[in-house]
Amino acid sequence: MFVSVRFYWIFILSTIPAVLSENVAFIIIDVQNCFLPGGSLAVTNGEEVIPIINTLRSKYENKFRLVVLSQDWHCSNHISFASQHNETSAYNSITLTYDDNGNICDPCQTVAYNVSQMLWPDHCVINSTSAEFDDTLTRKDSDVIIRKGFNCDVDSYSAFFDNGKFSQTGLHKILQDADISTVFVTGLALDYCVYYTSSDAKRLGYTTYLVKDGSRGVANSTSVDALTDMASNGINIIQSDGVGAILESITSAAVSSCSFVLTIPLVIPMLASWIISGI
Ligand SMILES: [Zn+2]
Repeated sequence: MFVSVRFYWIFILSTIPAVLSENVAFIIIDVQNCFLPGGSLAVTNGEEVIPIINTLRSKYENKFRLVVLSQDWHCSNHISFASQHNETSAYNSITLTYDDNGNICDPCQTVAYNVSQMLWPDHCVINSTSAEFDDTLTRKDSDVIIRKGFNCDVDSYSAFFDNGKFSQTGLHKILQDADISTVFVTGLALDYCVYYTSSDAKRLGYTTYLVKDGSRGVANSTSVDALTDMASNGINIIQSDGVGAILESITSAAVSSCSFVLTIPLVIPMLASWIISGI
């Protein structure tokens, strides 16, 4: 009897951290040398996101169940590089064609997919210094690293899917396995990889917060368009100084839920003991 009671309480107490722990992931997109000053595809003022991201981590590390860093990770002859295409140049857009298996047409008998592709300077080549994360970006062994764009024939702005939606990166399953329901997205660049990642997160059912001052765009006009589109699709556009209050509200909801959940296992045994003792 003593043993069973002891295990009962151990079980009850062990459920408390799980119920109280917020189902939140912090996603940091592509804070790599190639997108920072001196990089081949430097985002203007991109370095300004680093202290903001580091501060969010240091203040709220225990609130984030997962911290995810995405990493653009391209073959040296990647199809998104302007250097791989004749008679065009960087920042021009072309249309790529794929068959029904998601293979690039070279050519193919039947074109199944047309995918618009912006051409970029060579950047973030696999195992190069350019592809490394910035040295000053806070990192931990527990961080989840999601590499994207390593298929030479298709680009991947989103940390969830390639641009043709032919394959997943694995991030969705990782978030599902960790029971994540809310994501905060930061990083580079606002109008491409941050935008596509946030949009996919929302579409996949996650409550999604885009931390605007924790991100910078390639161009002002496309950044404005991206922010407008995200807001219209239910993505919450916030500033970093608003993250604390949002996490607090999530914690409060979890505490309320915990109180309700614990009512049954705590009250029923108490009532039973009263009845047995004749009170
Ligand atoms: Zn890229």
